[in-house]
Amino acid sequence: MSSRSHLLNDRTAEHYRRSLTEGVERVAAKLAGAEQPFTGITPAELDPTVAAVDLDQPLGTAREALDELERVYLRDAVYFHHPRYLAHLNCPVVIPAVLGEAVIAAVNSSLDTWDQSAGGTLIERRLIAWTAERIGFGRAADGIFTSGGSQSNLQALLLAREEACRLVRKNSETSPTTPQILSRLRVLASECSHFSIEKAAVLLGLGPEAVISVPCDEQRRMRPDALAEQMARCTREGNVVMAVVATAGTTDFGSIDPLPAVADLCEQAGTWLHVDAAYGCGLLTSGRRRELLAGVERADSVTVDYHKSFFQPVSSSAVLVRDKDTLRHVTYHADYLNPTRSVEQGLPNQVDKSIQTTRRFDALKLWMTLRVMGADALGELFDEVVDRAAEAWRLLTDDERFEVVVAPQLSTLVFRYVPRDHTEASLVDQANLHARDALFASGEAIVAGTVVDGRHHLKFTLLNPETSLADIAAVLDLIAGYAEEYLGTHAPALSAARAG
Ligand SMILES: *Cc1c(COP(=O)(O)O)cnc(C)c1O
Repeated sequence: MSSRSHLLNDRTAEHYRRSLTEGVERVAAKLAGAEQPFTGITPAELDPTVAAVDLDQPLGTAREALDELERVYLRDAVYFHHPRYLAHLNCPVVIPAVLGEAVIAAVNSSLDTWDQSAGGTLIERRLIAWTAERIGFGRAADGIFTSGGSQSNLQALLLAREEACRLVRKNSETSPTTPQILSRLRVLASECSHFSIEKAAVLLGLGPEAVISVPCDEQRRMRPDALAEQMARCTREGNVVMAVVATAGTTDFGSIDPLPAVADLCEQAGTWLHVDAAYGCGLLTSGRRRELLAGVERADSVTVDYHKSFFQPVSSSAVLVRDKDTLRHVTYHADYLNPTRSVEQGLPNQVDKSIQTTRRFDALKLWMTLRVMGADALGELFDEVVDRAAEAWRLLTDDERFEVVVAPQLSTLVFRYVPRDHTEASLVDQANLHARDALFASGEAIVAGTVVDGRHHLKFTLLNPETSLADIAAVLDLIAGYAEEYLGTHAPALSAARAG
């Protein structure tokens, strides 16, 4: 085959069709045949297979490359569609979105400028307007698709930083330099907020002590009284609260900060409120739980991760702002790309609102999803996993082998195995760590882990409506089995006591 026959164009449409069909058939067979979410392979076992591939010796055909891909990737991949994948915030994906993904790759629009996307630009804008409306923002709202929640948070905080700098300058008689202002800026976020907030603060040139951790209540939600106290302290110390970050669906607990109370405090102080709804955004389509997000419409900016609770393939995320004027802080003009003349011509260039330049048409996946199945169907899927988490919580609280941290607001459960006998705390920690690792190595199920109040816990993140309560019960038995096995060998006194 000539090298040009690999280019996708008018003459290779048939090659494209055959190649993709072959790939789709492999993946379809894989999905249909996955008995476990994972094979349990280790990096040391898989590495030689990947290392042995000679990248300078092409195989020539899609078939051979797919055969090889079976060994280097497909056979041992972690399959999120499997009902016993219960670990991180990864969802099974809906088919209309996967179809959208195939179109995205083949047409390959770049959403930075109208002259690289045309209709793609308008589709993205419609979806931003649609999301803003679901949030409850007014007509001045806008936003942009991003690569993920981390980037959405970064962009939101960038806008907040620029607004804060502008206000500090406006209200000051001296003219402070940017470094002088930056060192005084503070971001307040709950102790359960996502670590991308801290990363963003560093990237934005704030000091190492810029992010202040606000304590949570028993339900792992930010305490408004503690927030008020921290805001007052910042002012007393001559610092400036650049933004308050409320999390609507914390990564560990799915807890939702009290948005109305937080919004009140921000409003009184004139502080930028960012709501990180990377996880909780699924509620925007929920038929039964939308009120859990009440108050989100009072935010200045909101992060939504469609690739978490809208069942979209990675990546699909957006940052929305209540006032589109604030997006000017990321507007730069390049003569070669988006000259100021294009603004005068009224050309919609999305790069004017983004921190990326070349940018995928991720919005198409959501578009196809809404056009084929609709928002209510998405909301029903999300409601189902939240229902399942509530059922699983009852199962766990009735099971004396386990203790659960909090009743879930969304779809995560943080719990730990606790032996009935009094066992040294560090040994219980080890037993839980071992159970997670042993389960992962078996590939039968995948669960996550986290540390709560200094103790190792296990975590289920339920995002698959196909996960039944029976699946959850079976995984709990596996966990208890591995934990007991560990204690059996590492706490012989305990097992002796039991046997006696
Ligand atoms: C996952 C998550 C993020 C980060 O999103 P990515 O898409 O992984 O970059 C931010 N905030 C919260 C609350 C999250 O759960």
